[in-house]
Amino acid sequence: MRMGCSCCAGLSRRHFLGMGLGAAALGLAPVAFAAGGDSEFMLLSCMDPRLVHEVHEQMEARRLRGEYSQVALAGGPAAAVAPAFQKWQYAVWENLGATIKLHSIKRVFGLTHLDCSAVKIAYGEGAVSTPERERGTHLSILRAFRLQVTKRHPTLGVETGIMSLNGSIEMIG
Ligand SMILES: [Zn+2]
Repeated sequence: MRMGCSCCAGLSRRHFLGMGLGAAALGLAPVAFAAGGDSEFMLLSCMDPRLVHEVHEQMEARRLRGEYSQVALAGGPAAAVAPAFQKWQYAVWENLGATIKLHSIKRVFGLTHLDCSAVKIAYGEGAVSTPERERGTHLSILRAFRLQVTKRHPTLGVETGIMSLNGSIEMIG
């Protein structure tokens, strides 16, 4: 395994240090100090590599560049509500709280996607075994997500959607 190899780990560290120096040389502020400036919303989406580009394309198409902060975790909104992902939930809600404070967001947008392995892991094969069941599972994840957001941040707007593998988004709720 690459992760367990000390020589590669050393190379990796040097690589990242090099990147850091490069950023400093270009006059880029470290991420921690780059915060500030209001954003319209936080996007919570899945980390699935098949859809990373599509998610950004959808935001671009809506002229939302620079208008949102983003948290990407396996399952997206499922990471915030699935009992199987309980250990991740603290990170989701803490990050939401942080972007409310740092960027004055007004809404959160929870985006799941079809054929999501994380949803399968969290809810079982049976929950996604037919298109109808899969849709029902996503509707219930997104409903639970909307409830959790409203419970924690009553004044925050919450929107949810399901992305298809072709990148189109169906808004839900
Ligand atoms: Zn996924």
